[in-house]
Amino acid sequence: AALLKTSEVDIQGGWEIGDPVPYAALAKVFALIEATTKRLEKTSLLTSFLLLVIRRSAPGDSKSLLQTIYLCINKLCPDYIGIELGIGESLLLKAIGESTGRSLAVVKADLKKEGDLGLVAKNSKNSQRTLFKPKPLTVPFVFANLKEISMSSGHSSQNKKVSIITKMLAACQGEEAKYIVRSLEGKLRIGNAERSVLVALAHAAVLAEQEHTNKRLSKEKLTLRLEQAAEIMKAIYSELPSYDLVIPALLDAGIDGLKEKCKLTPGVPLKPMLAKPTKAIGEVLDRFENKKFTCEYKYDGERAQVHKLPDGTVGVFSRNSEDMSKKYPDLMDQLPHCMQDTAKSFVFDAEAVAIDPTSEKLLPFQELSRRKRKDVKVEDIQVRVCLFAFDLLYLNGESLLQRPLVERRELLRQHFRVVPGEFAFAKSSDGDTTEEIQSFLEESVKDGCEGLMIKMLESEASYYEPSRRSVNWLKLKKDYLAGVGDSLDLVVVGGYYGKGKRTNVYGAFLLACYDADGEEYQTICKIGTGFSEEALQQHYEALKPLELTNPRGDIKVGGAKPDVWFEPQIVWEVLTADLSLSPIYTAAQGLVDERGVSLRFPRFLRIRDDKSADDATGPEQIAEMYERQALAQSKGGKKKKGG
Ligand code: ATP
Repeated sequence: AALLKTSEVDIQGGWEIGDPVPYAALAKVFALIEATTKRLEKTSLLTSFLLLVIRRSAPGDSKSLLQTIYLCINKLCPDYIGIELGIGESLLLKAIGESTGRSLAVVKADLKKEGDLGLVAKNSKNSQRTLFKPKPLTVPFVFANLKEISMSSGHSSQNKKVSIITKMLAACQGEEAKYIVRSLEGKLRIGNAERSVLVALAHAAVLAEQEHTNKRLSKEKLTLRLEQAAEIMKAIYSELPSYDLVIPALLDAGIDGLKEKCKLTPGVPLKPMLAKPTKAIGEVLDRFENKKFTCEYKYDGERAQVHKLPDGTVGVFSRNSEDMSKKYPDLMDQLPHCMQDTAKSFVFDAEAVAIDPTSEKLLPFQELSRRKRKDVKVEDIQVRVCLFAFDLLYLNGESLLQRPLVERRELLRQHFRVVPGEFAFAKSSDGDTTEEIQSFLEESVKDGCEGLMIKMLESEASYYEPSRRSVNWLKLKKDYLAGVGDSLDLVVVGGYYGKGKRTNVYGAFLLACYDADGEEYQTICKIGTGFSEEALQQHYEALKPLELTNPRGDIKVGGAKPDVWFEPQIVWEVLTADLSLSPIYTAAQGLVDERGVSLRFPRFLRIRDDKSADDATGPEQIAEMYERQALAQSKGGKKKKGG
């Protein structure tokens, strides 16, 4: 509470109870948040602002807070609905030119200088003289316009988009143009990760409640209450990642009422539980000593979360909460076959794997990735898929997240049935000696899997932990054992033109990891060997439309100097045999050393289109990998590499 800054984030006039939230107020708090690098201060600024929004919302109005939150995280709806911002540079340049009367050449030159379209928009507005004072922008107006822009598609949509953007920009004052343009681009870049937004939301709700009930807590009690509220909010949101549902419930029932009102709900995909890597069976036994655990095949396909609503609707969602029913119409046809009549509503977790329909042999992920991604027609499908279910999270009105895995697995087996070539349960073995694990691992690899997933089976430690990379799930891949090294998911942020025969494509690429806390991409290596001509051509086609004049403001460049920059969007899985410290790259800087960590001899494995740039490997994981390697080398008596 000592950090509260409600007067600092307020604006002068024009915002009474029941008024729509003025966009100028939101832009003001964005600017304040952007201006500080301190995380706590960012959170308290946002908390103060959200408190103002709650105070000034009319009774029963949850939209003001909801739309404010969406604009803070630069989204328009829950992820699974799939309406996204991310307007290209050229269209924005055109709109900025049109709304401010500057020529395209001038706007482009400004972008070269500033490197930030938001600033270009702001500069362009400042240099423009206006006769009339435009009507002030409001949060609902901006929100509705952003939504209309992202939903319009087809032939004439370009002109329509430019015209809406032009109109909005014409009404902008002060900092507003900067943030509107950045929102349109798809990234606000104020260093406010979604996690801090959840914390601020929880804090604001507690403070509003305190004002409302007029009950003042002591400083110690309030601090504790704020911490608990933030934990509750994060837990609720990972189970039900939809502000559309969480915010009205929060305003209605308060933090303490959330648990009752917001539960895992079929139709709203939850953030999946993830696993930690392990390098040796010994490590598994150290971790799970004296505990019951199970080993399952780690199938090499794509994660699929399958939902059935009480009304019978079935949905399949990706690891990223995207709706996959258009990509897998065949799965949609197959699914009813595996459900017993007793499974009225459910959510189960599974892996979709390519399979040879005659031999029923599993095929590698490369085969699965040959399938078209959109508007697939069942009759055109060449690559068949089989689902391997490994967890049941919800059944007939009840969330099972806080039940031991052994029970969840039993229920899964009771309420579903194996359909050869279409549906099976993940193969498992509950054996717990090194020999048993070793032979099951070999068997899994022989059967076309990546290795094993090893999971805690009993007690609280085996509860399903949405969105967590948990130590209660370990992955043991054959690659790790072969000593080949670990794989990372990295974002392609830059390109280097090729030489010789390759001058028409990029010959090498700059990769980055993603720091979710600092909301920035950190460069990690240049990758250029091992690509076929054909692959280079394909990468060129995918990346060319993402070219940018300058590195985007949220890329921590370091000393890397690629020929072109890209919008951070495409994720590649890359294998490395070795990590080293580097004066050029910025990944994990400050975590193990002042220098960054870089990959030596990186090798491209595959495109990860089931991951978005925000899901790329984070700096902590990279630091962990580096330290592990250093430890292994010192144990092995090798010299530690540097430089
Ligand atoms: P990876 O590159 O290993 O797939 P990831 O970051 O996508 O990494 P991890 O937590 O590392 O996810 O590995 C778990 C993934 O393995 C799951 O997301 C799922 O798609 C897949 N998988 C295959 N078989 C299983 C299984 N039996 N249990 C859980 N996950 C499984």
